[in-house]
Amino acid sequence: MDIDAYRYRPPKTNYLPHNIEIDDPLVQEYDIPLAKADDRENAIFFSKMKMAAQEYNIVRPKGYTVSYHATDEMEKHHFGQTHPMKPWRLTLTKSLVTSYGMPFAMDNYNTRHATYEELNAFHSSDYLDYLATAAPEDQPRDQDSEKEPKFNLGGSDCPLFHGLYDYCSMSAGTSLDAARKICNKQSDIAIAWGGGLHHAKKSEASGFCYINDIVLAILQLLRLYPRVLYIDIDVHHGDGVEEAFYSTDRVMTVSFHKYHPETFFPGTGGLEDNGPKSEHNPGAHHAINIPLNDGITDEQYENLFKTVIGSVNERFRPSAIALQCGADSLAGDRLGRFNLRVQGHGACVRYCKSLGVPMILFGGGGYTPRNVARAWAYETSIAIGAEASIPSTIPEHAPWRSHFIHDTLFPTLSQSLSEPRNNRNTEKRLREIVAHVNEQLRFVQHAPSVQNSIIPPDLGGIRDDVEDRLKEENEAHNEGLRKTREEGLGQAMEL
Ligand SMILES: [Zn+2]
Repeated sequence: MDIDAYRYRPPKTNYLPHNIEIDDPLVQEYDIPLAKADDRENAIFFSKMKMAAQEYNIVRPKGYTVSYHATDEMEKHHFGQTHPMKPWRLTLTKSLVTSYGMPFAMDNYNTRHATYEELNAFHSSDYLDYLATAAPEDQPRDQDSEKEPKFNLGGSDCPLFHGLYDYCSMSAGTSLDAARKICNKQSDIAIAWGGGLHHAKKSEASGFCYINDIVLAILQLLRLYPRVLYIDIDVHHGDGVEEAFYSTDRVMTVSFHKYHPETFFPGTGGLEDNGPKSEHNPGAHHAINIPLNDGITDEQYENLFKTVIGSVNERFRPSAIALQCGADSLAGDRLGRFNLRVQGHGACVRYCKSLGVPMILFGGGGYTPRNVARAWAYETSIAIGAEASIPSTIPEHAPWRSHFIHDTLFPTLSQSLSEPRNNRNTEKRLREIVAHVNEQLRFVQHAPSVQNSIIPPDLGGIRDDVEDRLKEENEAHNEGLRKTREEGLGQAMEL
């Protein structure tokens, strides 16, 4: 393979190490001009990548294809100096993925922007119009600002920054491209670390998420695959995706997250929240929530994950999987609360891969960039089946290497956390969670044979149908009651 045959665009901006001192790795300085690597630097880096691939035996996996969807353009955006979301974490991820030589085992695609029409498949036009035209604000508005935030835009969580619409449409484009490669069978595992923004709603930004790329990607998958299983291992509840597919039995959502109704965002996703309460609604029992407490360990999480997803897989028989790999569930995350290590997080990806159905891996949360990069690089190696052959020491030629602080892909808990977080998850509680999930799954029709004729983007239509049907049934029920009462009274009630 020579450099021209290498399908990833040759490294351009901020690919190579630049000696920039940053005091606080959590607060990234973005106003530093990122020097453009010249052709010679690119060629040197490329040859090191190639050598790494040979040394670590990075080859295309046998019997299946992995595709990697990314764009350098996303990395340049920033939400503001103090905002925890740092697109720069994608740069660090790329640093590890490329320096281990992993691109040689994958089809690498440079992502395009999603079009307005594509975003419109889920998001409302008035929301998109505002998102595309609202003026950027250098300072997020504070809570008691006189200006009412429209669509929840412009506050401290979802600031209006320069290039916002571009950023959102690239994130969505990444996930849509991944979904399309899965649908046309050009890929079996498609990786979209720039996506995974699970909180965004139809007409509202929420929790650092503006466009719900996951919903858009699942809508694509539903064109071909009868049943899609959405799994979310971000530390936050995957509320936006759950809500979007609330009334359908073609998508089952399973979210593992820290749950506290008052003190932890978004406050939803309790154990008893399993979709619509009415049995007449096809979406009933198709939302599974695994509420957890601070400090859960790799061992507990992995056991719970395999037990729950094993049962869900058995019952629901998904034909495709959408896995959101939010890395804020890792120990030492700036916003997270768990004690997961890179290995424990990655074990979920490995298990899903073992189920042998087409899968998209999305990014998501993750606010300590160096650890986000570790997790997503390790999970990329799992996708290509190279997790056992890559060395745990980060390659010497990895760009931005000093930003990883420790030179290992697998920091210990004490390396990730300044003080250990107490584990507040008892075995008894975890057993209760499993029992509840199994109880819910009893109501799920075994591998429901759904009609593919109901395909998105009519999903809104499905919900309307369901609501209309419920209304009719309700009216019929009331009519029945009225008649009974009339008969009891022996006279007409109405005038
Ligand atoms: Zn999160």
